[in-house]
Amino acid sequence: MIPSVLPTYRRAPLTFISGEGSWLTEADGRRFLDFGAGIAVNCLGHAHPALVRALSDQAGTLWHTSNLYHIPAQQALADRLVAATFADTVFFTNSGTEACELAVKMARKHWHDRGHPDRIKIIAYEGSFHGRSMAAISAAGADGKTHGFGPLLPGFVHLPFGDTEATDAAIDETVAAVLVEPVQGEGGIRALPDAALRHLRDLCDRTGALLILDEVQCGMGRTGRLFAHEWAGIVPDMMMVAKGIGGGFPLGAVLAREAAASGMGAGTHGSTYGGNPLASAVGCAVMERVAEEPFLAEVRRKAGLLRQKLEGLVAAHPDIFAETRGAGLMLGLKCRVPNAEVIRAGYEAQVLTVPAADNVIRLLPALNIPDEDIAEGVARLDAAAAAVSGARAA
Ligand SMILES: *Cc1c(COP(=O)(O)O)cnc(C)c1O
Repeated sequence: MIPSVLPTYRRAPLTFISGEGSWLTEADGRRFLDFGAGIAVNCLGHAHPALVRALSDQAGTLWHTSNLYHIPAQQALADRLVAATFADTVFFTNSGTEACELAVKMARKHWHDRGHPDRIKIIAYEGSFHGRSMAAISAAGADGKTHGFGPLLPGFVHLPFGDTEATDAAIDETVAAVLVEPVQGEGGIRALPDAALRHLRDLCDRTGALLILDEVQCGMGRTGRLFAHEWAGIVPDMMMVAKGIGGGFPLGAVLAREAAASGMGAGTHGSTYGGNPLASAVGCAVMERVAEEPFLAEVRRKAGLLRQKLEGLVAAHPDIFAETRGAGLMLGLKCRVPNAEVIRAGYEAQVLTVPAADNVIRLLPALNIPDEDIAEGVARLDAAAAAVSGARAA
């Protein structure tokens, strides 16, 4: 019999009932060190007092009105994002998937309104992940997520990630946009070199194609800058954001430059919940903290600490781990044994990590994780790796 919850997830046998900072408590009372943060979502940890306050204050005042009316917290959050980034305008969604939908629509509308309704091609990259809607799976193109769901949306071209020459060859005046994650998350924590991102910007400038960055996972301070593209010193035309922006409350956004967004007038797009008072109040509280330079400097310092400890872990367990990769607090351990074994051993050692493609385990702790929790989490990973080695030798 089919379970009452549609069984699209292979869930770990764990049920968490409360959380504080970088710790989660299981129903049986065990405490787990959280190196997954709900897949890069809980950027300020669990039950952050300022976020709890922002949500409960708003909940006691007004939950929802709809985008038929002005929403002060949404306006404030948009103003903050515009002030802190390349963007001139913001549309709020409930998820990264919905941000992808709008980015694709906006790119098409942009060219339609300039008299090129047939300029619909979007270059995307192998190993990418943009969400689960038809547009998002069509954009990413991987067979594992599209199989059985055809026909897919036409117009997407898939090239090897980081292959500058392939993009050189594919880009011309028929391409509406290039869509890329500066650091692939689901694809195995693969960072695009800064030079490659700058090259994409040049190609887009030369052909007029819009550069759309998917910073759903790598944005909101994760790499030690507010957004990952800042490391390359370039700006996109559009950017998808979600995950960390709500700190655990469902919130996403598309940020855009005016020229890219100019086709999106009244009635062209909408969302019942997008940027509602609850989500926007929490989003403001997140931005207030994460967008501050001293906070980001701390993220960079903690990232250095975690990276250094992970290098030590890899050196101590060459039979289990091949390398450390990634940027900031978006780090991956490439495994020499099936990554699922290491993650399962982590559960036994009470540390949570997240699988990714390319046999990688992802470490995406809260951006404000205390140094002692970084040390404790790596010690638990060390115990997990030793357990995997021991089980394999037996
Ligand atoms: C998670 C993710 C998405 C999809 O976001 P949802 O909120 O799950 O719809 C899109 N792009 C990237 C890079 C992601 O990591």
